[in-house]
Amino acid sequence: QNTIDKIAAGEVVERPASVVKELVENAMDAGATAITVEIRDGGISLVRITDNGSGIPAEQVPLAFLRHATSKIRSVEELVQIASLGFRGEALSSISAVAQIEMITKTPDALTGTRYVIEGGAEKANEEVGAPTGTTFLVRNLFYNTPARQKFLKTPVTEANAVTSVVEQLALSHPGISFKYMVNSQVKLHTSGNRNLKELVYNIYGRDIARELIEIHSESPLMTIDGFIGKPVISRGNRNFENYYVNGRYVRSKLLARAIEDGYQTSMMQHKYPFTLFYVQMDGEAVDVNVHPTKMELRFSHQEEIYRQMRDMISGALNHREQ
Ligand code: ADP
Ligand code: MG
Repeated sequence: QNTIDKIAAGEVVERPASVVKELVENAMDAGATAITVEIRDGGISLVRITDNGSGIPAEQVPLAFLRHATSKIRSVEELVQIASLGFRGEALSSISAVAQIEMITKTPDALTGTRYVIEGGAEKANEEVGAPTGTTFLVRNLFYNTPARQKFLKTPVTEANAVTSVVEQLALSHPGISFKYMVNSQVKLHTSGNRNLKELVYNIYGRDIARELIEIHSESPLMTIDGFIGKPVISRGNRNFENYYVNGRYVRSKLLARAIEDGYQTSMMQHKYPFTLFYVQMDGEAVDVNVHPTKMELRFSHQEEIYRQMRDMISGALNHREQ
């Protein structure tokens, strides 16, 4: 089990940022409305994630760390529906194979919680403790037992930057959740979770961008798009400002990137990339996110229609503003 998990861990766990992404997604799946992320040394020595979600029932705690243990799929129909969200039951087993995990969890109806410790895939403690409802994960010393993998980690500063962009993307993709993010005990980001998108942009990108936004909305039988696009005065030399979330997930898509940039084309100088913040809702069957285990790159059916709706929405909004 151990060797297989250590190998499998390579797919899910590359660096502290991937640990943070998996654990925060679990917290969101558990219905958390407030999530705290804390890292030390770029997350290499410590990642701590606290949520106020549903918690894990005591008898299910050890099971959650087994490979392909997922509580999120109960039927074949559900499997088909949910496959695109990437529930694979691999994150906890993978992370616990290559780090030292301490978890404290309690469900709302239980009187006491559970403290569980697992290191390098081996259970070290499983005991009753007093705890608030929700779950806290402490992940210490990532890759402590796989020196070859540890070598690939960058400096703490670089790893911290990668974690920061993951946290920002998670906060942007879930404006209804309050995120608190701390780096070496210093609060770097604290979002309200009140769904105010302008305030969210202000918190993450600052005032200069928050005041140059155009609100957009576009609806077709294929997809609904809501959010903001930046006025063409805001741009970057890379695509880091192009934010879009499909069915609540942070994703990357060459098709959407091209549609965005073509939508701006007449308004923007070449080789500059705009600021966007889109929330796209579409039928789960029209989109495939299972292309890679890290669930980032999307594939669409109806490519042409999706491209056109996105591009025309943007060029329309920009033209409208000029008149
Ligand atoms: P998956 O998310 O694909 O189901 P994971 O390995 O990430 O697999 O998690 C395994 C299981 O552990 C989940 O299905 C869930 O039941 C439980 N779990 C993990 N994190 C949390 C959390 N923060 N709150 C409640 N349950 C959790
Ligand atoms: Mg998960």
